Amino acid sequence: MSPFGKINKCCKIIGNLQPHSTKLSHLKDLLINWQKKSGERQKIYKQFLHRADKNTVLKQLPELNDEAFEKIDCLKCANCCKNFSPRFKTPDVKRISKHLRLRESDFIEKYLKVDEDGDYVANAKPCPFLGDDNYCTIYDERPSDCRRFPYTDEDFILKRQPLALKNSSFCPITYYVLEKLIENKKSIG
Ligand code: SF4
Ligand code: SF4
Repeated sequence: MSPFGKINKCCKIIGNLQPHSTKLSHLKDLLINWQKKSGERQKIYKQFLHRADKNTVLKQLPELNDEAFEKIDCLKCANCCKNFSPRFKTPDVKRISKHLRLRESDFIEKYLKVDEDGDYVANAKPCPFLGDDNYCTIYDERPSDCRRFPYTDEDFILKRQPLALKNSSFCPITYYVLEKLIENKKSIG
């Protein structure tokens, strides 16, 4: 199962947290060993999402999403690009093949395959367009799935809960947003 919307992707982690206050110190702690903690807390995330109040969550997402992207550098992560493929939908194929100056059929033959859902996806992992420096070599033309990933600023996490849970296991931004939503719920009561 692709995490992209089937979902997915873009990219940036954990850099430069400076614990000048209790709050920042807590945020630093939150991201230490995040992948292990996320694995251990999947049941809690599942229960939280299942019972979450939609409006309360949606109201918090834009700010939490921005906060997560400030704390986490996708260029030091790239887990999504390394392990999953976005869908390459028709407009994506047209745009990217034009950018690469390839015929669409040649682009498809060179870079894509059809997955079990009948969608075009990358034919290799990591994604063939991921550079050694973790930059996307077709960034301006990247698939729409990549632009939206990890969907933490939209209702995706409530609508596609199994995928949101999956994303939290490899995407620290998704993990961070879920943890903060749970923390905020505790403080709201
Ligand atoms: S998995 Fe998440 S944090 Fe990592 S590069 Fe992708 S979007 Fe960024
Ligand atoms: S197209 Fe770019 S952003 Fe999308 S998965 Fe590939 S390398 Fe990552």
